[in-house]
Amino acid sequence: MDKNINTPKPSSFEVVKENSNYLRGTIEESLKDPLTGAIRADDQLLIKFHGTYQQQDRDVDDERRHQKLEPLYSFLIRVRVPGGVATPQQWLALDGLSEKYADHTLKLTTRQAFQFHGVLKRHLKTTMKGINKSLLDTIAACGDVNRNVMCSANPFESLVHAEVAEDAKRISAHLTPQTNAYHEIWLDGKLIEGGEKDEEPLYGKHYLPRKFKIAIAIPPRNDTDVLSNDLGFIAIVDNEKLTGYNLSVGGGMAFTFGNNATYPRVADVVGYLPKEKIVEVAEAVLIFQRDNGNRFERKNARLKYTIDRLGLDFFRSEIERLSGFKLQPIKSYKFETLGDKYGWSQGEDGFYHYGVFVEGGKLADRNGYLAKTALREIAHIHQGTFILTGNQNVIIAQVAEKQKPLVEALLKKYKLIDADTLSSLRQNSIACAALPLCGLAFAEAERYLPSLIDKIDNILEANGLSKTPISIRMTGCPNGCGRPFLSEIGLVGKAPGKYNLYLGASFTGDRLNKLYKEMLSEQDILSALTPVLVDFAQHKQEEEHFGDFVIRKDYVKATTAGLNFHS
Ligand code: SF4
Repeated sequence: MDKNINTPKPSSFEVVKENSNYLRGTIEESLKDPLTGAIRADDQLLIKFHGTYQQQDRDVDDERRHQKLEPLYSFLIRVRVPGGVATPQQWLALDGLSEKYADHTLKLTTRQAFQFHGVLKRHLKTTMKGINKSLLDTIAACGDVNRNVMCSANPFESLVHAEVAEDAKRISAHLTPQTNAYHEIWLDGKLIEGGEKDEEPLYGKHYLPRKFKIAIAIPPRNDTDVLSNDLGFIAIVDNEKLTGYNLSVGGGMAFTFGNNATYPRVADVVGYLPKEKIVEVAEAVLIFQRDNGNRFERKNARLKYTIDRLGLDFFRSEIERLSGFKLQPIKSYKFETLGDKYGWSQGEDGFYHYGVFVEGGKLADRNGYLAKTALREIAHIHQGTFILTGNQNVIIAQVAEKQKPLVEALLKKYKLIDADTLSSLRQNSIACAALPLCGLAFAEAERYLPSLIDKIDNILEANGLSKTPISIRMTGCPNGCGRPFLSEIGLVGKAPGKYNLYLGASFTGDRLNKLYKEMLSEQDILSALTPVLVDFAQHKQEEEHFGDFVIRKDYVKATTAGLNFHS
């Protein structure tokens, strides 16, 4: 790959960042403009750093055009929740805001964050203030900075889990942008005169070349999909004690159709560090990417491309120079699943935890299924915490023995889905938000995947595979927010009602899938999958996963590196 990135000028986004006075731009003016529900173009880029995106309801575009109205603009707000842990009070506050100012739903994202959809411009500031009042915030939930730091769900499962969760919080705090712009704009904080005294010691005026994602996983459960992140830490436990982490770098999901210089990539595991070094090493990797990432072509700006351009040896030597620490040889570890624990389990401290399945991460009251109300009612009586998982589910955590019957009564009253009654395929499903609000979606995902799974379930049932764990993920475009390239059945929207089908990822998140068939309608998807699943049912080896089977039987070639994803 070409090592030279000195093309004539930096991307226009770099110029916007430079001229933004540390992310202020003209956001205040844009918010005050009563003539439009939108904000200015440059502010649409900057506002992402504040945790919000402008969107428009594509379902009503035609109708609005006929009425000679501007599109129905609204905003997505992403709430940063390091490690995904929220108190019942925070849950109730966010639930209330979603009822009052958003579309009455809460999206639980694949990065352990809450997302509001459909917030109108005139409600944006009030909603942001409400989020901050609950002691959560949206700083750096989006934008060219470090995002929400993910962590293996449930810090209350064991002492090791608790220690790892603390490390996630420390990294998150250390890498959070320092600009006062957020407080000025959203919380009526005191304006800094001329903005001159504001600074970003770590990021500088240009922040990072692109978004930056960090996750930590505790083997054998890879519930954060750690290798899909720019930077990952794999906990190494010896004698029930956390000793340190294997470092993984250069993961990422997105690519652009028709541009083979873009590709998803599974991170490389490059060395081991003792736990005390985690923040220094995280900072060193971020600085490496800040100074070496491609600021000319955003499509090739993520760390995965920087590493493939400059080489792992150079990367490793730079990280050792920047952190002043020599990485040690990788310690052995083994992932067994990407999935969540559902139902009741008990932690080392005797408290109980209940994993709730939330289809597509969408919490709503719909068609007589009152999942959102149920969680709200539980939050009213719950004395522990809620934990968002990287698989878009939620854990009702730290339930004391005497509280358990109360929680159980509410689970029963609202008939909250018992995940045991679902196929393993549905239990291991993820869908991104896609239509109608995501401007990049070519096709449906969250609204469509449940009904497609109904149909695939029929095939599984007929072949005795209902309880065989198989992962399936669907996104509306190849940006990959739902990490479709790490699922055994990956479906990526190509056009309305048409999907590319990818097969052959591992069940544990360490091998990407490969394109199997293109531009499939629903009937095409079912026709393509049926013979492969029948073959799997008849010829799978003991303990063999579907993703491994399709490679053994030559349905697709194994993707051994991001660079051969397209070949
Ligand atoms: Fe939108 Fe694409 Fe992300 Fe889905 S994967 S939410 S369609 S950008």
